[in-house]
Amino acid sequence: MVGRPLLPVGCDTAGVEPVMKKVVGMAVVGLTWLTGFSSPGFGQWAKQPYDTGGPLLPQQAAYDVRFYEINLRIDPAGRSIRGFVKVVAEAVQALDSLWLNLDPLLRVDSVKVADSAGLWRRSGFRQAGPYVVVPLFARAALGQKIEAVIYYGGSPRVAPYAPWDGGFVWSRTASGEPWIGVACQTEGADIWWPCKDHPSDEPDSVALHFTVPANLVCVANGVLVGVTENPDGTRTYHWFVSTPINNYGISLYAAPYVQLDTTYVSVAGDTVPVYLWVLPQHVGSGQQLLPLILQDLRFLESVAGPYPFRAQKYGVAEAPYLGMEHQTIIAYGNQFRRNAFGFDDIHFHELSHEWYGNCVTVSDWKDFWIHEGFASYMEALYAEALRGPEAYRSYLASYRRRIQNLMPLAPRESKSGGEMYGTDLYYKGAWVLHTLRYLLGDDPFRVFLRRVVYPDSSCERITDGRQCRLVSTEDVIQLAETIAGRDLDWFFEVYLRKSQLPRVAVEKGDLSVRFRWLVPDGLPFPMSLEVRVASRSYRLDMSSGSATLRANPSDPIEIDPQGWILMADPVITGVAEEEGKTPATVSLLPNLPNPFNGATEIRFALPRQSVVRIEILDVRGRLVAEICHGQFPAGRHSVRFDGQDLPSGTYVCRLTAGSETRLRKLLHLR
Ligand SMILES: [Zn+2]
Repeated sequence: MVGRPLLPVGCDTAGVEPVMKKVVGMAVVGLTWLTGFSSPGFGQWAKQPYDTGGPLLPQQAAYDVRFYEINLRIDPAGRSIRGFVKVVAEAVQALDSLWLNLDPLLRVDSVKVADSAGLWRRSGFRQAGPYVVVPLFARAALGQKIEAVIYYGGSPRVAPYAPWDGGFVWSRTASGEPWIGVACQTEGADIWWPCKDHPSDEPDSVALHFTVPANLVCVANGVLVGVTENPDGTRTYHWFVSTPINNYGISLYAAPYVQLDTTYVSVAGDTVPVYLWVLPQHVGSGQQLLPLILQDLRFLESVAGPYPFRAQKYGVAEAPYLGMEHQTIIAYGNQFRRNAFGFDDIHFHELSHEWYGNCVTVSDWKDFWIHEGFASYMEALYAEALRGPEAYRSYLASYRRRIQNLMPLAPRESKSGGEMYGTDLYYKGAWVLHTLRYLLGDDPFRVFLRRVVYPDSSCERITDGRQCRLVSTEDVIQLAETIAGRDLDWFFEVYLRKSQLPRVAVEKGDLSVRFRWLVPDGLPFPMSLEVRVASRSYRLDMSSGSATLRANPSDPIEIDPQGWILMADPVITGVAEEEGKTPATVSLLPNLPNPFNGATEIRFALPRQSVVRIEILDVRGRLVAEICHGQFPAGRHSVRFDGQDLPSGTYVCRLTAGSETRLRKLLHLR
């Protein structure tokens, strides 16, 4: 999905519902299930669980989905859906019942299950909170096929703020006709159809049948198999997806679309049909976008390998929301705008996800950065290809300002989509790749980008679905190490597993300057460092964690002048030594300048070596930023604080050194 606009600090978050983790409710349901068939009261789920993934329920780990058929009638006037979903699964452990997820806004009418003779029989079912539990007629043994059909309907969740807070979007065109979409990446596909709502289980194929009023065109994933004219003035569009697909990647769009199409000859040699469905008033703009779509495809193929869904299509649908990477049918709502670098970044970003997100998909949202970090990095790489290295740096500089470091980018424990979603997935993810490029060198890095998608060149020729894989952060690390031919754990441990960034301490002496890595938890970080001292450039070997150069205290120093390394602002120390005295007490000195516009220097003094934490709070005491946390030697220090994304106002800087705390007011004027 596209990056969510940053919320200003202190903005009103009313209307954002707290997320209840499914696994919590699960324990209650499981217990009730074991003790009888009585349905627990709906009141147990005071809030609807609009989240997806996280720890997989044992009941859902027991089966592997092979196929879904979704057959729905879409009623724009009633803002409702009704129909059925067929699930075909295989038992990977013996199981007695099929556990599916479904938003309780939608109600199950009836269920059919195939018995051991393959005969369809009406089955009991229980809809409790966010689950539909279907008992099987006989215990399914390992490897046995399970088939169930769930008949259901209702008014699905309306997206409060698509695509970031998802659901159905019931919009209208300028002429008043329905314009419908659905986006559910961080809420889960169970907001509109019953499924095993977990990223670890993709069906091998999917059949989609959507019935809409005959004045609308309904487009969806995969290949259009046919259109049925119904006697009641509706049409049914039949689509088929012949490859694995993530649940949130399944979508539909309905509007009085005009179809624009062309073909694209892939680098692999196949001819791929390309479709763009636009509203009638945007045919001219669409015709201008079509050649740019081909140009975007050409570039991404040159980096990541052949477009993965050549046997189906590449489709773009004008959507009533900004964008989403629905497989082979990208949601596009950027109103045909190009950015300052000459490309439509929304289209390009979503197209990048066909490789990073759809061909390779994370099996747990803890690894969400692989989708967004790679797609965002591709944008910078495209800017470089179109406009040169300065454009690349400028693109990354705009990302750098938006990095928040609120939590580790890739925690080791299972996480839900809602827990992980945030701007760091995009901007910090892209910056980790940028720094990895510096570490590996350009050519090996290009191999890395391509082999994340296709493990070897033979995989690049496959189009039947076997090209799609689930990936994890561990897979990405292992690939980088294989390509580098050395251990890179230290790199990924700091950038992916810690929230705070490394920074350089610059310790000035009378005749020399020492550069030292300050790393969260004191982890090893042997990253070589480019510095410029008095206009001379050096590449410092930092394998021991520090390096010293001869220099005068007054020499100007530039650290990492080309901006390759993701790090916090440097700390300049050693002033106390020059003045020949150690501070007597912990003090937080006035920041310079104050008031400030953008950045200011936070200055402090320590009588002895201490673990220091410096935080910025708003006037209501809420944490706005942690600007450093680590060990500092005795002396005077300064740390740069960049507050340019903050609104004007008064803030409080809190210094904690050991057991002592100091506060100082900062005034930000913009
Ligand atoms: Zn994205």
